[in-house]
Amino acid sequence: MDNKIKIAVNGGIGFGAKLNSKQLMTISKYMDEEDELELTTFQQLYIEILEDDKDEVIKEFESVGLKCYPVGNYVKSLRTCNFCKGEEREGMPVAKEINRRIAGKPVPFTLKVAYTGCIIGCGEPMLSDIGVMKYKDHYNLYVGGKAKGKDAEVGSLLRENLTPEELYDIVEKIIAVYAEKGKKRETFHKFLKRIGKEQLIS
Ligand code: SF4
Repeated sequence: MDNKIKIAVNGGIGFGAKLNSKQLMTISKYMDEEDELELTTFQQLYIEILEDDKDEVIKEFESVGLKCYPVGNYVKSLRTCNFCKGEEREGMPVAKEINRRIAGKPVPFTLKVAYTGCIIGCGEPMLSDIGVMKYKDHYNLYVGGKAKGKDAEVGSLLRENLTPEELYDIVEKIIAVYAEKGKKRETFHKFLKRIGKEQLIS
């Protein structure tokens, strides 16, 4: 029997989590009438494709501007706000660069990273494992948010007034520490409680 695998797809980082009709038509080419797309809470669609077709499908998806990511214990693609105040003012290039550096990296358990272009915080960075909030010309970094469960928690500030380069370095470092020292299937929230915030970047 032909093996199927699940991949995550979205339209990349832009003004809102949108897909155009060409992208939708391209996705539907690889679906039978009874197939379903799963809409996740994380601005991704899950689609099942034949494992043997994976490279070809991803190439075609990317040719129409879709972004493809693995499903499972990886860093999710960056969740963002809608950048309503403009691309530059709200740091869209910085969000794209963060996503380029981290999305799809293997980690002990699915890791959610969110970005928001101003302190109104529509991207909900405080409820994500790692959250970035642009404030004036700099970036504040939060860790330890947990949106789910009775023990849901708001993240706390780890560093503030970061430049883009400082932000990239520290986010990559946190993910590397979690990938290295986290136990198998240990959530980032639990990991952080176990090792303590400052150990993340010591
Ligand atoms: S966080 Fe700020 S820039 Fe982003 S969508 Fe909300 S109000 Fe607009």
